[in-house]
Amino acid sequence: MPFRDCVGHRPLLAVLARSITRGSLPPSLLFAGPEGIGKRLVAVAVAQALNCPQPRIGGPADPDARLEVDACGTCPSCLRIARSVHPDVAIVEPGSSGSIKVEQIRDMVDRAAFRPFEGKRRVVIVDDADAMVDQAQNALLKTLEEPPPASVFLLVTARHDALLPTVRSRCPLLRFRPLSPQEVADALLRAGLTESEARAVAATADGSVGQALQASAGDLVESREVAARALLQASRSDAVRARLDAAKELVAGAGAGASERDHLSRHLRAMASLLRDIELLESGGDVGALANVDVRAELGRLAAFGGERGVRAFAAVDEALVALDRNTSAKAVADWLLLRL
Ligand SMILES: [Zn+2]
Repeated sequence: MPFRDCVGHRPLLAVLARSITRGSLPPSLLFAGPEGIGKRLVAVAVAQALNCPQPRIGGPADPDARLEVDACGTCPSCLRIARSVHPDVAIVEPGSSGSIKVEQIRDMVDRAAFRPFEGKRRVVIVDDADAMVDQAQNALLKTLEEPPPASVFLLVTARHDALLPTVRSRCPLLRFRPLSPQEVADALLRAGLTESEARAVAATADGSVGQALQASAGDLVESREVAARALLQASRSDAVRARLDAAKELVAGAGAGASERDHLSRHLRAMASLLRDIELLESGGDVGALANVDVRAELGRLAAFGGERGVRAFAAVDEALVALDRNTSAKAVADWLLLRL
């Protein structure tokens, strides 16, 4: 992701771009700031800008004129860096033990001593740098003191105070601030959330896209559970009372900035996704294509919605979503739907 696609941090990005064009980027930098605000993405953007063979040079024609330079984002070099398979760009991060071991750092330091293989600069990104055990930090220290000429070390951390003072003193600190709610919402929109969801979640995210995505993942899981329960209830009983109770649950629990309408809409989209998967299973489709593959057992319990009934249910959910868009009351839409499933 080039600088221009990073969310927020404009002044920092401008400084980084400027020092890249002027050749004054320090050989090591500490990217510090809260979790989940895009520090690692910016580090990757630096690696791209340093190595892109056809960088965009900023200027009046550039949409973000304050960036003196930016990677093209589309050449083989940029794409390989984005996919973490560029031979000159290494990302070191904690393994399953939760820490970065001395062997990981030694291996990376050894490779950083060579000239770049095909790019212009070797870039080493140490993500969650505070997870380096002391021995690993000491192994890195020598390299930070005498950096190989064509290498850049970017240490990314939410707890820079946890690094050894010797390491900290070798790396100029770039302090990343939390994102604004608007910036978080923009990032969530790009991640596929709807406008109202993005805003609702961003409002409570403390400026962290990571935190917002986690929260919204939690909401999505909850929505799916509610949707599955409603479908199960409808498959078990034709009794109007039971179905209207299930409808109530589809609307209940709105809060945290989301309206009843948003809430129901999220549950309905989860329901549509479940129905699509049931249809896929019924028709013997590829299990790998299931959107809800993690709740396959649940899908099995909803087999009553295979075939014709599932198709009708899907159409009804679709109609309900349209009605919601037209401002029909959430409760009326939920009741109507449950009586048709
Ligand atoms: Zn490029």
